[in-house]
Amino acid sequence: MSIMVPSKTPAALITTAPYPYTPGPASPGRQALDSALHQLDQAAGHLGLDDGLRTMLATPRRSLTVSVPVRREDGRLDVVQGFRVQHNVSRGPAKGGLRFHPATDIHEVTALAMWMTWKCALVGIPYGGAKGGVAVDPAALSTREKERLTRRYVSEILPLIGPEKDIPAPDVGTDEQTMAWIMDTYSVSAGYSVPGVVTGKPMTLGGSLGRAGATSRGVQIAALAALGRSPEGVTVAVQGFGKVGGPAAQYLADAGCKVVAVSDATGAVHRAGGLDISRLRAWVAETGGVRGFAEAEELTHDELIELDVDVLVPAALEGVITEANAPRVRARLIVEGANGPTTPGADEILAANGTTVVPDILANAGGVIVSYLEWVQNMQAYAWSSGEIELKLRDLMLGAFAEVSALAAERGLSLRQAAHVIGVGRVAEAHQMRGLYP
Ligand code: NAD
Repeated sequence: MSIMVPSKTPAALITTAPYPYTPGPASPGRQALDSALHQLDQAAGHLGLDDGLRTMLATPRRSLTVSVPVRREDGRLDVVQGFRVQHNVSRGPAKGGLRFHPATDIHEVTALAMWMTWKCALVGIPYGGAKGGVAVDPAALSTREKERLTRRYVSEILPLIGPEKDIPAPDVGTDEQTMAWIMDTYSVSAGYSVPGVVTGKPMTLGGSLGRAGATSRGVQIAALAALGRSPEGVTVAVQGFGKVGGPAAQYLADAGCKVVAVSDATGAVHRAGGLDISRLRAWVAETGGVRGFAEAEELTHDELIELDVDVLVPAALEGVITEANAPRVRARLIVEGANGPTTPGADEILAANGTTVVPDILANAGGVIVSYLEWVQNMQAYAWSSGEIELKLRDLMLGAFAEVSALAAERGLSLRQAAHVIGVGRVAEAHQMRGLYP
């Protein structure tokens, strides 16, 4: 186990990369952590937090790096790096997704865990923030290899997780099936079924109605609230067509928006008159990607980000809107389905250009909201109807949106700054009320 020792300043903290992964200064993971620490620093400034509390909030409570051996189909043995970071547990158990991606590292996972802490506090659910990652390309693994990898990773992080300790969920490269394997591995070790150890499970294992599309539904709710006018004919581009971007494109189209462009790892497609999202999803299910969809023209990834649309929904990975391309972004509204898609430098450029950004910790909170509802149902051995889930999700999303908008207007902040002031403020308050042990 590698525990990060709190150092005097956040800047000092991020220079101590745990063995054996030492990325260069420009690694995407380190950039994500830089962004998260910058946002925390700004919020701490607005809140007038002292240096000790700032350092506490900048430092993950637990940070575990594991080596995961995987037996490949051809008999080879590969060893990959895995991580689980619990950034903060002051308001409740740690909560956060599990990512399978070749470029993930301890810095990225720490940033994602930190964002989870503020997100849960912002929408008022009783969790701290966590994240997990395994540095592997899931597309290069067979189903059996993925199962072996997942089970071994879970057994390595077993002491950290549990329904009252830390509850994983799906993120990039993982899905319901991954959650089912985690639930089974944990339950076998406990000796009885523990559905509450993960969320985003299949319905048959205690999953919740509405969880699969929850993040995307939340993105739709946030986008429509931020638009503040009829969505009829509003043009939208969506980057990333996975668990978040796919249904988000569908829900926005259902609401009357014209989704004109969509991208995924295989490429980007565009149709000025609006894409038929159901047919595009069927094409992706058949071929594995949006590329080659006959009812559209091809675009480059960069062109999609810079397209002349009303709304841009980045729903893939971090750091895609940067100082380099922000001046060319023409969307008036950006709704962040992904975590950390916009760098702090890009934020300043977008603000100066009058572009509104609904930040990740607000826009994509629908996923953790319904994860929370799933966990509550598991703990009570009870199930709510889809109507009840939808109502609770909508209430929490719109409540948080109203609070963030009101604070932004009152203090002249961006929506991101206001969201962080609220989220960080609630966690700081919890720390102060609990006091320091011993
Ligand atoms: P996913 O693996 O299901 O989908 C990711 C998508 O991004 C895929 O379509 C992939 O092809 C695409 N992609 C990858 N590289 C790309 C590129 N360079 N250009 C365009 N598209 C690219 O992952 P997901 O669960 O949909 O997560 C997407 C983002 O949303 C992540 O930032 C994640 O942290 C965030 N998020 C997810 C959830 C959730 O419930 N799954 C909740 C909150 C936030």
